[in-house]
Formats: sequence, structure tokens, C-alpha cells
Amino acid sequence: MVIDSFAFTRKAEQLEGQLVLEHSERLVDQLAEPFGEVSWQVRGYRDEPVGRPAQEWIELQLRGSSFVPCVRCLKAVEHPIAEEFRYLLVANEAQAAELDEQAEDHDVLVASEHFALTELIEDEILMNLPPLAMHERCPQPLPGSSGEENGPDSGEEVRPNPFAVLTKLKVL
Ligand SMILES: [Zn+2]
Repeated sequence: MVIDSFAFTRKAEQLEGQLVLEHSERLVDQLAEPFGEVSWQVRGYRDEPVGRPAQEWIELQLRGSSFVPCVRCLKAVEHPIAEEFRYLLVANEAQAAELDEQAEDHDVLVASEHFALTELIEDEILMNLPPLAMHERCPQPLPGSSGEENGPDSGEEVRPNPFAVLTKLKVL
């Protein structure tokens, strides 16, 4: 979805929708089935503080869940998202660089007539993903821990049992 960002803030527009994460090429590689859904709400407004230049703002709210692979069993772990973001719109990169340094509770976005809203939403979801996800208790026994998975690729069948030596000694 693409918006004209300054028109969006000046008209105080609002939009909302649902991002099915399975359909996002940028996200799906990071996720595990059933991938998840995030509802988003975005609104624009113009702030006109007395004695200072007007500011254009965009607010974004995300609610939902993504499913990320568990580092132990690779099955999906649910990762909830409930976040709000605030962005100050600026006209160009130079202004963005200058204002970004002062920004503490918000980010700075360069305005565009063709602003890629979906990409912004994807960016925030990507940054929200945990670096490592793990079940508290994995839903299935782990391969190897049950003893059933000692398959032919373990490569250790021909290694002699060290206790065999002890048995021989005993016999002698
Ligand atoms: Zn797990």
C-alpha cells in the first residue's frame, strides 16, 4: 500500500488493515507456520505548536502475532506484537539526518508522494522479531533425546564399545 504522506497528515487521514504475514515475501523466511497476522492502524495529523514551525506526524499501531521457529525443535513459537510508533515527517534526507539525532520517542521519516506504507509495517514487524525464540517446553520430544532417532547417519555403529575391554579383563 502506497500513500502520499504529506497529503495524509494534512488531511488527518486514517487507514487500517490486516497483514497476513504468509503473504509478505520479506517476512515469511523469518517465520514458521502458521506465520501469523498483524492488524495495523495508521493515522496522520498536523501539529501546530505556537511560535514554532508546524510538524506533520504519522502514528502506527500494530496488534497481532507472528510465529517464529523455535531454536530447539524448529516448530512455531508465538510472538505477540502490541506496539505503537510515532514518526515525524520531514521533507528531505538532510533534514532527516539533522532531526533524527534529537529524536528520542519517535523516528523521522522522509515524506514522499509514494510512501510505501506496507514496507514500513514490515520493517517494524521485522525489528520486533526476537533474535532467538524457544518454547518453554517443546511440544514434541527432541530428536536424539528419546533414543528413537539413532539412525544410520550417526556414523558410530562400528566404534568399539569401551566396556568390551573391561569385560575381557574380567574374563582373564
Ligand atoms: Zn521448541
